[in-house]
Amino acid sequence: MKRRGYGLALILLLSVLVPSPTASAAPVTLDELALVRVALPDEAMFDELVAAGADIATRPRMDDGRVLVDLVLTGSQLDALTARGAHAVQVIQREGDAAARYAQSRQAAPQADTLHFLSAYWWASGGQTFLQTQVATTAIADPDVEITVTWTTADGTTGSFPLQRFVDAGEYQYHVAEPQPLPAKPTRLSATSSLGGVSRVITPTAWPGPTPPAPPVGYQEDFIDAYMAPTDIKARLGRLARQYPNLVDLVDLPHKTQGYRRTATAFVGDPANAAIVVESVKFGDEGPHGWQVRTVNPGRPNRPAQATWRDRVLTVSLATDSSGVISTTAQIAALITARFPQRINAFVEDGSAGKVMPVAGPVTMDDGLDGSVSRRPWTVQALRIGVHRDGSRTGVLAYSQEHAREWATPLVTLEFAERLLANYATDAATRQLLEDVEVFVIPTVNPDGANYSFSDASFQRKNMVNHCTGLQRDPRLADQWGVDVNRNYTVGSLFDGYTGGSANCLSGNYSGTAELSEAESGNVIALAKAHDNIRFAMNVHSYGGYFMWSPGAYAMPGRVTLPRPSTEEEALFLTSAKRIVGAISSSRGTVTWPSRTGPVADVLYSAAGNSADQLYYELGIIAWNFEIGNDRWNPATSDWEGVGFQPPFPEAHAESQEYADGLLELLSVAGDYARD
Ligand SMILES: [Zn+2]
Repeated sequence: MKRRGYGLALILLLSVLVPSPTASAAPVTLDELALVRVALPDEAMFDELVAAGADIATRPRMDDGRVLVDLVLTGSQLDALTARGAHAVQVIQREGDAAARYAQSRQAAPQADTLHFLSAYWWASGGQTFLQTQVATTAIADPDVEITVTWTTADGTTGSFPLQRFVDAGEYQYHVAEPQPLPAKPTRLSATSSLGGVSRVITPTAWPGPTPPAPPVGYQEDFIDAYMAPTDIKARLGRLARQYPNLVDLVDLPHKTQGYRRTATAFVGDPANAAIVVESVKFGDEGPHGWQVRTVNPGRPNRPAQATWRDRVLTVSLATDSSGVISTTAQIAALITARFPQRINAFVEDGSAGKVMPVAGPVTMDDGLDGSVSRRPWTVQALRIGVHRDGSRTGVLAYSQEHAREWATPLVTLEFAERLLANYATDAATRQLLEDVEVFVIPTVNPDGANYSFSDASFQRKNMVNHCTGLQRDPRLADQWGVDVNRNYTVGSLFDGYTGGSANCLSGNYSGTAELSEAESGNVIALAKAHDNIRFAMNVHSYGGYFMWSPGAYAMPGRVTLPRPSTEEEALFLTSAKRIVGAISSSRGTVTWPSRTGPVADVLYSAAGNSADQLYYELGIIAWNFEIGNDRWNPATSDWEGVGFQPPFPEAHAESQEYADGLLELLSVAGDYARD
């Protein structure tokens, strides 16, 4: 029983103040609030207290004719009761005691945190055993907690290594380290923290598990002998379609790309001093390539500025006064834009505003592109492979090179496709697969950007569409133009408020002007929507060695991810991932790390508006992402080394082979799904 608060009635009832000793060493002072066990002379007084709303902390009990009750009251109230025959038996606690008791309890508490292993996996690769662990501490807010993992092998050898605190979007996730080399399989692990925390002793698990059996003798593979630019890929697709007409259709995707093309531009004047930029309205290959622009001094005083167009040469006569040229850069840029709006736009070069327009040129306008490939809009193509290409079988979609610079990725999907076609006639397992499933392959989603990467700027990631305006159209920024195709989809996008896409047209993660503003992203979705038998998809990127699924994005603040898969689907993702990671490892021992296997948002970063999230959330497709090109262990330096987007070809070739193995295992997963 507990009653709160004192009514005015109680104060009046107990208004006679008579000082009286209490049972405790120090009396309760008049204003002090305390919890006191009081012996009341009779039940009538208790009833009075109840009626007055006294703060009665316990059920009263009878004791030798008295009533014992615990009351929260002030010293003056206690004195009033005492004057009427009650007396204090025990001052249990004073109001002022509480803060000190809280502080003392915190000081006396053990400082140790609690640790537990989120994962602990070992594997062997290239004769070397590795261990990777993730450990979480309960001291999530302490940035200085150090966690050490200690391992023991069967023969008693032991060692330890530190973990690093991993924080994402301001939130503590866990402690983790790169895979550590060990002399042998670890049998026991424990973790300790600098706060004194100790984990349970655990036994690590083998990663990723069993590898599939080797292909039978006579199985044909390795159809990759060089890097392939979009033109090479187009030729390969044509050959496969001609060579295996009973197994494959070549599908033209509906949205032609812009093409490997740019508007033609030139600087008129000296960009370091005073200049304007002229830019054709049409693409360079549509006529403007080779146009010339010059500015001239009319040689006479007091002339207005004027622009004339003749024989593909724009001549601007500058304005003069009695002492010479007076046209500014802004005036001349405005004159050109107003005079020939169908042909040329002009703007003042950054830093040239307010300056007199110099006499310059003629300068030749060009599109700045070095490649000798077609400038025409590109028809992106897909292979449709299977015995029954009618939508009656479970569909699997593999697509690559959304990002132009990821040169090894089409090698993976092309190797995968050709293995299916080449082995159909002779390999029973392949024949069964192509009976059970239908396979769609888009080797290069972003051929325009790929052409730019092969011919002009190898680090080009985005497509060739320039949505920039104003000064951001300066041709010196050309390598930063384009849309990140894999940030242009409709689920969890920048436009929905998710993290990992940019509204800046010069950003590597520029999301475009709207969801699906680009032909490239539209093609992937159009293919998936046109074939609702597609139940599985793999989006092939490079590099780093990741195997990932949804959610691929979160929103800030709070790191709110897209919905997590159900427990059943998460289990399907993980068990399938282990099969596919195992298949990849069968080629040359490459093991995708446990820490790089999981949802994109958790193991890599938030990628707002990526394709796999749209396939999964909108179309219900089990959609994965590869980042091929796993880090390589260097035993000489004991370091993991990155391979990059365009490694020396032998590495890219090895990636094509091992990740084709992974895609074939994905097909087996789909086949099992289809038969279930
Ligand atoms: Zn990529």
